[in-house]
Amino acid sequence: MEQPEPNQPRVLDRADHSISRKRIEENSLKVLYRLRHHGYKAYLVGGGVRDLLLGLTPKDFDVATDATPNQVKKLFRNCFLVGRRFRLAHIRFAGNSLIEVATFRRQATEEDLPDEETEQRFYSENVFGTPEEDAFRRDFTINGLFYDIDSFQVIDYVGGLHDLERKTIRVIGDPLVRFTEDPVRMLRALEFTARLGFKLDHAAREAIFQRAPLIAEAAPARIREELMELFRHKVAGKALQDAQGNGLLRHLIPGFIPGEKTFQLLHAIDRRTVSGVPITESFALAGLYYEEFLAELQTEGPIASALHLARELTDRYGQYFHVANGIRHEARELLIASYRFLRGRGRRGERRFLTHPVTGQALELFTLWAEVSGEHLDLINTWREAISTGPPPSPPPRKNPRRRRRRKPRPPRT
Ligand code: ATP
Ligand code: MG
Repeated sequence: MEQPEPNQPRVLDRADHSISRKRIEENSLKVLYRLRHHGYKAYLVGGGVRDLLLGLTPKDFDVATDATPNQVKKLFRNCFLVGRRFRLAHIRFAGNSLIEVATFRRQATEEDLPDEETEQRFYSENVFGTPEEDAFRRDFTINGLFYDIDSFQVIDYVGGLHDLERKTIRVIGDPLVRFTEDPVRMLRALEFTARLGFKLDHAAREAIFQRAPLIAEAAPARIREELMELFRHKVAGKALQDAQGNGLLRHLIPGFIPGEKTFQLLHAIDRRTVSGVPITESFALAGLYYEEFLAELQTEGPIASALHLARELTDRYGQYFHVANGIRHEARELLIASYRFLRGRGRRGERRFLTHPVTGQALELFTLWAEVSGEHLDLINTWREAISTGPPPSPPPRKNPRRRRRRKPRPPRT
């Protein structure tokens, strides 16, 4: 019997896999067909193939080809080349749809890199390569599968099909090496484990343990994006709890020491997102620091000290990840609202508070916290009613408008 070549991929014919072209987005198909029509290889790659094989609806469909970016650009009118080091083609279609086309590439070796950059082993330091090399430079085996639009075959160089069957997240190559090259892969490993309900391969888990501190060297902008991905995929609670368990969390968000209820709150936030409420970064940020805020908050103290505390907490994250002021501000409002909720109704400034655009969301967060902690449940209905009825009508204007300004602040009603 003929032995297969050592590097021969496992190939599934059209009849032996579940990918149907009907489930591939129309514009992606157009791109794939046009590339193939012009004699290029055209594969669907990455998460699209993985999710289709799992019977899930892919978030996006990435395309890989042996055409160079310039060759791709010539084929599509609506094509823009992006990326500094490695050029990618973005093809735009009506309705804001965007298809990303990448030329097959491989991980760069030291000889490929300009001298001054040899220290930088960043994952995007890639050069054009073969489909096989392109599969091996990817992060996890289940993310390294290809669907060939010419033969309708699934092509697996990296053992991804086997791991899909065994529901395992396995790093392509040696996890210690691959996490050193790009520490963000550690977070992605936890993300996919949580999203797909898979188990993380033992070697990868061990490697995260060992390489966790390296994540602090990754570009904060990338971590911030992956953190938001956790929230958007409704697995922030699960993945961050996992990150806490294997020592990654304290390097991921420096200075963040969550209490035991924080993870429960994050789970509750994920359930809210599952129910269809879109997650915002300010809500996520407030969720991360809610427990710490409440633990240090003095409800009998002035609002200025609550503000100070909210600022201190959100600025830690905000400065490290360069979060825009508007988002930080909204996160602070979400935190400070809990000060007002806890003090009860009839306090100064209530009229403005009840009509403030963030107050509704703040009550949602407060409600999630109350459910998780079993505290303050009694306050929720009171405030829900107050927000839905709105503030009482303003008193009629006085005759002499000058006299409206009070010299001394009125003592708070109790
Ligand atoms: P989804 O888009 O559903 O979140 P995805 O697998 O498509 O999941 P993307 O972030 O869109 O994830 O990346 C597309 C593909 O690029 C991945 O499937 C993987 O093959 C590769 N990839 C992404 N990030 C890395 C990385 N840090 N190292 C190596 N390969 C990566
Ligand atoms: Mg994707």
